[in-house]
Amino acid sequence: MLSMSEYFNVSEIFGENVFNDTVMRQRLPKKVYQQLKRTIEEGKDLDLATADVVAHEMKEWAIEKGATHYTHWFQPLTGVTAEKHDSFITAPGEDGKALMSFSGKELIKGEPDASSFPSGGLRATFEARGYTVWDCTSPAFVRQDAAGATLCIPTAFCSYTGEALDAKTPILRSMEAVNEQSMRLLRLFGNTTSRKVTPSVGPEQEYFLVDREKYLKRKDLIFAGRTLFGAMPPKGQELEDHYFGGIRERIAAYMREVNQELWKLGVTAKTQHNEVAPAQHELAPIYASCNIAVDHNQLVMETLKKVAGRHGMTCLLHEKPFAGVNGSGKHNNWSITTDDGINLLDPGETPHENIQFLLVLTCILKAVDKHAELLRESAADVGNDHRLGADEAPPAIISVFLGEQLEDVLHQLISTGEATSSIEGGMLQTGVKNIPDFVKDATDRNRTSPFAFTGNKFEFRMVGSADSVAASNVVLNTIVAEAFSDACDVLEQAEDFELAVHDLIKEQATAHQRIVFNGNGYSQEWVEEAARRGLPHIRSMVDAIPMLASEKSVALFEKFNVFTRAELESRVEICYENYAKAVNIEARTMIDMAGKQIIPAVIKYTTALAASINAVKAACGDADLSTQSGLLLQTSSLLAQSQKALEKLKQVTERASAMEEGREQAVCYHSEVHTAMEALRAPVDQLEMMVDKELWPMPSYGDLIFEV
Ligand code: ADP
Ligand code: MG
Repeated sequence: MLSMSEYFNVSEIFGENVFNDTVMRQRLPKKVYQQLKRTIEEGKDLDLATADVVAHEMKEWAIEKGATHYTHWFQPLTGVTAEKHDSFITAPGEDGKALMSFSGKELIKGEPDASSFPSGGLRATFEARGYTVWDCTSPAFVRQDAAGATLCIPTAFCSYTGEALDAKTPILRSMEAVNEQSMRLLRLFGNTTSRKVTPSVGPEQEYFLVDREKYLKRKDLIFAGRTLFGAMPPKGQELEDHYFGGIRERIAAYMREVNQELWKLGVTAKTQHNEVAPAQHELAPIYASCNIAVDHNQLVMETLKKVAGRHGMTCLLHEKPFAGVNGSGKHNNWSITTDDGINLLDPGETPHENIQFLLVLTCILKAVDKHAELLRESAADVGNDHRLGADEAPPAIISVFLGEQLEDVLHQLISTGEATSSIEGGMLQTGVKNIPDFVKDATDRNRTSPFAFTGNKFEFRMVGSADSVAASNVVLNTIVAEAFSDACDVLEQAEDFELAVHDLIKEQATAHQRIVFNGNGYSQEWVEEAARRGLPHIRSMVDAIPMLASEKSVALFEKFNVFTRAELESRVEICYENYAKAVNIEARTMIDMAGKQIIPAVIKYTTALAASINAVKAACGDADLSTQSGLLLQTSSLLAQSQKALEKLKQVTERASAMEEGREQAVCYHSEVHTAMEALRAPVDQLEMMVDKELWPMPSYGDLIFEV
């Protein structure tokens, strides 16, 4: 039981550590507040004098929360956030006392010595300048932890010549693109009141929790974030008793603290439950503006990890920490909404009559069909290769699930050129008198689709759990901006708007119907059907990477000023490097574990077994020793296989790591090193099932996922 003082009032703590609109309105002089608001909402320049006032108030506010330091918080292309802390103190005056100061200049611009962040050749090491620039559209916050309190200022990170070196800059650029093109589209439909369109994002985060003591006994978890060896326990997830199961106290106490921390930071942690695999859980916030949602998801991941430590646990964000049970993903819910609350993805009660919605919908079908490879690439990360297409996550083929109602409308449009009806939801009848009947959704769900329409939003389900959602949303925003732009180009010239829009909807629906698929995405039939339809099936990250800088992608991103060709090519380089580095770490961890822990343990076991056989033989010459000798024979043979596989892995890893960085190296890691890793794992996992548990040098899967 918690003592009364440990209870808290959510509405009191929510946002208490955020320099949000209420705080700004209270603390800033009216004129300064209005100017800042204009910068936030309309992108107007902020002069230095105003920035000075904002910085001063931000600092005063942060000091009241105990802050001693500030940091420009940014998202370089390492996948995680970065920060460099500076204290507020100035050099002591004559009285020997230090003052606390923070200027507008310090707020707006920082210059981390950034030469060791990935730049993919955009910046040679001798040109080390990189700037962090204040993103005033994402509110500053104070983070309180063992380091004390720190004022964190969300920033974009770019090179001396203005090239994006981070995840945030392209997000902001893509939001502008989709805003501009959506406004064009809305004006065509006679909307004169909306002033801005913003993409909204709600990312659902999956994660695993393991006991910290056990985690520390597994070098693979420590270095690679996933198990590289491990035999399946007698029980897996087959009973499906964990999913939505009652949350145990240890986990519940953890979730409570995670929520508390997130609420203080203004993150709207909303839904939590156990997931399919044992030890797997999920947390979803209420959706927010794309940029803030991306930042908040980073805070969610940081907080999940930090709080786990305080509860004697470790949070694993890896996409596939354990073979044989489900991995973790991140469902990216996405919609576009005007400042006056119109969701462009809301079909209304009768979608067949909602012409604007049908145009938006068919534009999205076109966008996803045209750029399926790019969208697939946006979800590629090293860990996700173990998940996509493995019957637990969406397949690696992009398709769109629309549901019965919309598919029917589309079908009417394509076949007769006219949609005259919408299937209705009907009543849900449970057959139980005391449970009220209600009107159910017009459409059931489909959990196997990578891109599913879910009422008034699309849910992109491919993103990896450890990955930032930035890349996927950059792609979504930009491809939809392009489709809107193409549509507006046609419609703005049309003499008869009604007729033109009708024709365009039909044309787009017909041309892109191949991307729509409502069936089972996990089935082999779908893989074959998708091939017949000519849909791309990109199975791995190394195959996906080149899509980022294909001519089609370059044309898209350059047209909407989201990326230049150079930026895209640099990202391609970074992806190859990241891939090679990650697999190299995994391979070397396996070599280390097999050579120093597993093989010696097996030798100890076989030696003891041989000694006991000899002892029994000496004591009782005609005893039946066939079981012991059979075991000895089998373990010795697996031991020999392991040793051979280990030598092979050493050899290919050495060769791969000596190669020049780039595509060829990544391909070598993907094919050869990876194959050698699997060849080593197989006999070792068999040995784990035979060798005395007392001698096995690390906790088993059973220990890790059933005893948290
Ligand atoms: P489900 O996946 O079961 O539909 P929810 O409806 O609770 O679950 O939504 C999951 C996530 O989608 C949440 O983060 C939620 O805030 C977000 N979401 C809901 N509506 C929208 C929307 N219009 N745009 C973007 N995200 C949304
Ligand atoms: Mg969902």
